[in-house]
Amino acid sequence: MMFPVAQGREAIVPPALAELDERLGANTSQAYIAALSFAPNISGVQVVLNESLGAHFVSHPYGLEYSKISLNPDPEHYREQIRSGVAKTRFAEFSGLYRQLGIRPGLGEMAVVGLLHEAGHADQFTRHIAQAAGQAALGFDLRRAARLKEVQTLPLGGPTSIALTAWNNNTEGYRDKLIAQGITDERWQELTEKNTRTYMKLPSESGADQFALSIIATARPS
Ligand SMILES: [Zn+2]
Repeated sequence: MMFPVAQGREAIVPPALAELDERLGANTSQAYIAALSFAPNISGVQVVLNESLGAHFVSHPYGLEYSKISLNPDPEHYREQIRSGVAKTRFAEFSGLYRQLGIRPGLGEMAVVGLLHEAGHADQFTRHIAQAAGQAALGFDLRRAARLKEVQTLPLGGPTSIALTAWNNNTEGYRDKLIAQGITDERWQELTEKNTRTYMKLPSESGADQFALSIIATARPS
């Protein structure tokens, strides 16, 4: 998928994105430039690759320049999301949009969605800092408090990825405790699906998705 390059702007694309694009046949570099034309404030955020984690944004009390968007460059990571059915729930709205644009979404589009969604969180962080009259540490606290309040409402009390890791590794007896409460494998599957759907509807999550969707819809493929 091609994004038009922002006119008159020499955006510096983080080197990590060139590597990601090469490994996944993606076009996150152009998506990044499109994101900057929507939200120029996010240009300072670091972008790093990490093979052991899904896409995420880590805010830092020193501000955006110390904050990170982390993305997974391993094609297997995306294939596993497809195989496990996570992708079907997670990317439903994005798949619909891509198909409307005449694109059959693949691994590259999943990576673009990952980047743009996390860029949406970076944009939210700049708003929290602005709310705190430019004081990054205060903005960081505002973001953390808002986030905590949101994730506590989830059926599993936190993001699905964290609960899944705790279940798979039986961290501090997490799986044992749930099994003792009568949670079967089947029930666990239902719970994680419900958790993922509820997570996506949290205000900060649906906000980051809307940010990503509007960039994909506006910066139409050429
Ligand atoms: Zn998110």
